[in-house]
Amino acid sequence: AARADAAAPEQTLAQQEASTSDITFQDLGLGEAMLASLAKAGYSRPTPIQQQAIPLALRGRDLMGLAQTGTGKTAAFTIPIIERLIGGPKRTRALVLTPTRELCQQVEASVRKYGTGTGLEVVSVYGGVGYEGQTEALRGGVDIVVATPGRLIDHLEKQNVVFDDLEVLVLDEADRMLDMGFAPQINRIVATIHPYRQTLLFSATMPPEVEALARKYLRKPVVVQVGRRSQAATTVRHFVYPVPGHRKSSLLTHLIGEMEADDSVLVFTRTKHGADRVVRHLEHEGVHADALHADKSQSQRDQALKRFKDGKTRVLVATDIAQRGLDISGITHVINYDVPQQAEDYVHRIGRTGRAAKEGDAFTFMSTDEIGMVRTIERVIGQEIPRISVSGFDFGT
Ligand code: AMP
Repeated sequence: AARADAAAPEQTLAQQEASTSDITFQDLGLGEAMLASLAKAGYSRPTPIQQQAIPLALRGRDLMGLAQTGTGKTAAFTIPIIERLIGGPKRTRALVLTPTRELCQQVEASVRKYGTGTGLEVVSVYGGVGYEGQTEALRGGVDIVVATPGRLIDHLEKQNVVFDDLEVLVLDEADRMLDMGFAPQINRIVATIHPYRQTLLFSATMPPEVEALARKYLRKPVVVQVGRRSQAATTVRHFVYPVPGHRKSSLLTHLIGEMEADDSVLVFTRTKHGADRVVRHLEHEGVHADALHADKSQSQRDQALKRFKDGKTRVLVATDIAQRGLDISGITHVINYDVPQQAEDYVHRIGRTGRAAKEGDAFTFMSTDEIGMVRTIERVIGQEIPRISVSGFDFGT
């Protein structure tokens, strides 16, 4: 079966929490309003990163959080920010820098969710859309700005926003921002912020460039870490399907055909053309699918995401712009149609499924010329990924 239920499920995040501690949100020093929002969100307990980060952040410490998406890290910084800002003066007092528009929107949504009723205003500011709405919001005065570095620089140059009163700076997915070449923009932005701020840095990995960034901008940071470095999210079961390259598209439709009707599937391809080709193939086979990649306009991307989130399309086919940060709850399957070029990408992609306490499956299609890449990934994540052969689709055919 496509779900391969026979494989031993790994410990879920929820089980991990239950077994490691009985810490509740009340224990973290949060106010009544926040506790009510969290109860409304349906969260019973803080995740490990939240248990560690929230009390420290509330005390004003600088933090370096080693955690990938799916661990609850967004709430780990938005919750203490909201607690800190409640009732204070109406100034821009918190700035969150993120690598992508999608992540901006997600952080903004998180602030709105946990900050309902606080009167705090948040705006997200990213490229690919018009300036007007953002300018108006920034000039009108907001408490929390969530931004991608490039677009924020434009607004700083136009003096649409100043950070004279900034209290908290968050560098979210720092590794990804550096990968995307944002170092000069980050430096320019941080140069406008006084040094007595609190700085929180989150990163899925800690390469030397991120360590250097942390040394430069954080003061006596406490390092909080969830799971081992490069470890795949624990709620995901993953499998490799050996398959000849030309049989990948039929294997995809075969697997989708075996899934439940309400399963949602995120497929990753190496190239934009690859993504378009897979979408055409699926549509041809009668499966609703959308593509998400950099050649699509922002509104096309937003619409594709919305349709997917609403369950109107079952399959979203993406290149790696969708790889990090995307918070689509309820993804049951991630399929690497092409083996990711880098092991870290593998970890991030499969982090799209099995988010928080949900379980998910991650399948990787491996053609003969991708065997070496899969071995490299296995070395980095420190485990062998079980192989599944589907008769008629394996190397023998
Ligand atoms: P993140 O790692 O920040 O991308 O969050 C992953 C998902 O976990 C999001 O959908 C959150 O809404 C959800 N989440 C965050 N904190 C908790 C919690 N304490 N309990 C259950 N779900 C949570």
